[in-house]
Amino acid sequence: MKPIAEKAARLVTDSFKLDTPPVDVRSLAKCLGVNAIEDANLVEDGRLLRVNGKSRILIRRGLSAERARFTIAHELAHLILSDPSSDLVARRQRIGHDQEERFCEDFAADLLLPRDWVRKTAAGRPQSLHTLRVVAGRSNTSLAESCVRLNEVAGWRLTLMHWRLADQRWGFRWAAALPPGSIGRIRSIDGTRQVIENGKQARG
Ligand SMILES: [Zn+2]
Repeated sequence: MKPIAEKAARLVTDSFKLDTPPVDVRSLAKCLGVNAIEDANLVEDGRLLRVNGKSRILIRRGLSAERARFTIAHELAHLILSDPSSDLVARRQRIGHDQEERFCEDFAADLLLPRDWVRKTAAGRPQSLHTLRVVAGRSNTSLAESCVRLNEVAGWRLTLMHWRLADQRWGFRWAAALPPGSIGRIRSIDGTRQVIENGKQARG
């Protein structure tokens, strides 16, 4: 599935000469016939609607600009896969296991973070938060999406974790690029604060 999704993303970027990030997904959406992109009160991140030949992408209100861009790219994949003559509702689900959802996620990742560009940008740089920020900043994608992509295509073996200090305790918020066996198993324990504080001191 992934090679086909990447091939589709490359076809689109080549056709519209969008090979260097940051890819302008809103202009691309217009070129592909999307009539409007609107914020909406959704549970899911995004939704593609086509009624009577008019296509709209709805984006969950409050989504970060980077995640909105990824969601637009995802919905464009649904658009490409769809029959242009029929009405349509497609959603971006948080956890998508069906084949079309997987395809759309892979398409979006390669559209915004092209394999060769990511490899070239990461080449010769350390596997670090700084490099991650460079890749995310230049592609205008989130740290989480960039981290997943660096693991996928540039040989990284790093997980990005977000913790928040509240009531003297570091609480786990989310992680990207987690090894499969650890999904759902990360939580704060008594020693967590010490580990995080030590890490901060070591970095200065
Ligand atoms: Zn979807």
